[in-house]
Amino acid sequence: MKVTILGNNSALPAFGRHPTSQVVTVYGETILVDCGEGTQAQMQRYGIRWRNMHHLFISHLHGDHYFGLPGLLTSMSLLGRTSPLFLYGPAALKPIIQEILRVAATTLSYPLNFYPLPSTPDVLVDNAYFSLTSFPVRHRIDCWGLLVKEKTRGRKLLADKCRELGIPSTSFERIKAGEDYVLPSGERLPNSLLTIDGPKGRAYAYCADTVYTESFLDVIHGADTIYHECTYLEEDKEKAGLRFHSTASQAAQIALKAGSKRLLLGHFSSKYKDLDPFREEACAVFPESQIAEEGMTYEV
Ligand SMILES: [Zn+2]
Ligand SMILES: [Zn+2]
Repeated sequence: MKVTILGNNSALPAFGRHPTSQVVTVYGETILVDCGEGTQAQMQRYGIRWRNMHHLFISHLHGDHYFGLPGLLTSMSLLGRTSPLFLYGPAALKPIIQEILRVAATTLSYPLNFYPLPSTPDVLVDNAYFSLTSFPVRHRIDCWGLLVKEKTRGRKLLADKCRELGIPSTSFERIKAGEDYVLPSGERLPNSLLTIDGPKGRAYAYCADTVYTESFLDVIHGADTIYHECTYLEEDKEKAGLRFHSTASQAAQIALKAGSKRLLLGHFSSKYKDLDPFREEACAVFPESQIAEEGMTYEV
């Protein structure tokens, strides 16, 4: 599972940085997480295609998180998309999109399925490959985070042992899927003798715009990589609180308490040109902190 950063800034584009957007790739599926202004151009720039994109998540209705959405939705239609798209966001997003399409007399070429985010943690998608869970965070308006969990990738076959036991390779796929093997003599070889646990699925937590809160710690606990906003440095802690944003140090405290392996820092205020102080401040609390750089792809 990987995450590619398309925009890492807050309200305004500044110093070459774009408003918030990122894509999570899991088993070939591309999940778009927020869609600030300029997201389409950033997708083109970094070679992100929407052919395998079926799930779009919008955390909240501040413009720096969704002003790129109408453009993306209509471009997909202009280019003849037919496969359905699932859009998860605040309930008010649906009439906004409907009105934009109505006044432009536009009918999309593909089904757009809208799902309003509820006020408690909710499983949006749960298939054989991954799950998506939304959870409320604390911001000036209703806002949600997203947990992407990769499913365990099957059993790991003990191939040498299987060959020694005379099992033909044509049976390997079924054994990997968890089946026992029956020898021609009728003896049953239990699956636990032929396989071991596969690699554990990884988890990525996107903690959207939020003031410091531990209210969703239980949902994101154990996530391998956490993205947490840090609009300000600790010297502007008071301002951060008043505007329902976090500081780099607070983001690091959340990553530490969540038992994460890595923290990606983003959503920087346009007043900062140099981002190094964010990394330094966060690393003092949680050493595995780094800036979520635009155009960079991170293994979760
Ligand atoms: Zn924002
Ligand atoms: Zn916001």
